[in-house]
Amino acid sequence: MLAQGHVPCDRRRFLSLGVGGALLAAGLSAPVQAAERLKSSARIVIAGAGAAGLAAAARLAARLDGAKITLIDARKEHLYQPGYTLVAAGIKPQNYVVVGRTADFVPRGVELLEESVAEFDPEGKRVVTSSGKTLNYDYIIVTTGLKLDYDALEGMDVSRIGKDGLGSVYHGPAAAAATWALIDDFTRRGGVGVFCRPATEMKCAGAPLKHTFITEDYFRRRGTRGKAELIYHAHNKALFSVPIVSEKVRMLFRERGIKTRYDHVLTEIDIGRRIAVFTTPQGKVEQPYDFINVIPPMRAPDPVRFSPLAWQTGDFAADGWMEVDRATLRHKRFPNVFGVGDVAGVPKGKTAASVKWQVPVAVDHLLADLAGGKSEQRYEGYTSCPLITRLGRAMLVEFDYENNLVPSFPGVVAPLEELWVTWVMKTMALKPTYVAMLRGRA
Ligand SMILES: Cc1cc2nc3c(=O)[nH]c(=O)nc-3n(C[C@H](O)[C@H](O)[C@H](O)COP(=O)(O)OP(=O)(O)OC[C@H]3O[C@@H](n4cnc5c(N)ncnc54)[C@H](O)[C@@H]3O)c2cc1C
Repeated sequence: MLAQGHVPCDRRRFLSLGVGGALLAAGLSAPVQAAERLKSSARIVIAGAGAAGLAAAARLAARLDGAKITLIDARKEHLYQPGYTLVAAGIKPQNYVVVGRTADFVPRGVELLEESVAEFDPEGKRVVTSSGKTLNYDYIIVTTGLKLDYDALEGMDVSRIGKDGLGSVYHGPAAAAATWALIDDFTRRGGVGVFCRPATEMKCAGAPLKHTFITEDYFRRRGTRGKAELIYHAHNKALFSVPIVSEKVRMLFRERGIKTRYDHVLTEIDIGRRIAVFTTPQGKVEQPYDFINVIPPMRAPDPVRFSPLAWQTGDFAADGWMEVDRATLRHKRFPNVFGVGDVAGVPKGKTAASVKWQVPVAVDHLLADLAGGKSEQRYEGYTSCPLITRLGRAMLVEFDYENNLVPSFPGVVAPLEELWVTWVMKTMALKPTYVAMLRGRA
């Protein structure tokens, strides 16, 4: 491993920052990394200034002296997406998820270009921006996140989210707040609630489940549970990709009277008539609803998907995820390219918690290249999901590529137990930890 003085990955410390907000003050005020800086004149582009892009910029800026680092993203506000579920549950206000301007998180010495990358040209080692600017690079870290492909759902109209029982937590802060207004009304009146997830890879695969659990809990608290039929539609034969978690959720759904349908993929919606159309192995099935949480298919953003960076064959090719090595996040065909965060075509890891463990690995490999050395760091697929099961309770589900549960606090926070401490972590402590990550401090 190259990175001299590199703080080794310590998941427990990260989560302990999350569990005890009080620990944050000490931990976060420390300098990013007290490591020796490497002199380099490398030109490094980071495409996307979300969770992964800002965290990578912070770590590179702290370790390099003389490099030209350019961060490219047109988005002005930085949004804390894990908070959308809390907004849609009426637990936090809409502005809770706006953590500030992107520019506020850009480290000293890094240039922010407020545009999008329109074209990736890895053979030419350059990108072209939306205004037609060309940037040549020696290294690039692609951190564009993913595209919510609402257009792929026939009949879907995002401008109608919040009306006619049409909810959609993923669309953004306003949609999450509008979805809460619908849930508030729905859990008083009752009716049929339809919940689902897309058949594609998705960020935070626990979020559709959380939203279902929370809705059911509101019905109970309001004494209206008898007025509701709640149906969760799984895209395949499981409720979660990790078998033991899937089984736990199946049992909880059964206890709570949440009906489950398998192999049901939402493909069409008739908003006016409040009918969801699912594609199943037996054909199309119409399901009327009073409330629906639409979660669209997710794919790599078009400039990545339709570039040489995408997988050319295999499971990740159709949706254009980046062809990176799952342990190093380095591109398999273009060694000076890394793909980190949601855009990476790896079997697990589309969460902010994964970003936390992916970024140091990719950065260490890049620094090793610049120093003429070799990094031994590996990303093992760590993914985490604080799965809220009711107000005041959540299960901390942490797993890796092999579907092993990898609890950070064995014996203290049991992964498949509905615990108050996990709820506190999700609702109070994770946002400061996330912000610390953006600054390279967690
Ligand atoms: C409802 C919901 C609940 C979630 N819950 C959790 C949770 O409980 N725990 C958890 O760990 N994670 C959760 N997540 C997932 C987490 O937010 C993402 O996995 C994380 O933000 C991924 O980071 P990223 O940097 O890859 O993408 P993002 O943070 O989405 O950032 C991508 C950035 O790239 C920019 N971009 C896009 N295209 C281009 C382009 N062509 N050129 C330049 N820039 C571009 C975008 O503007 C954006 O700023 C949740 C997400 C949602 C939506």
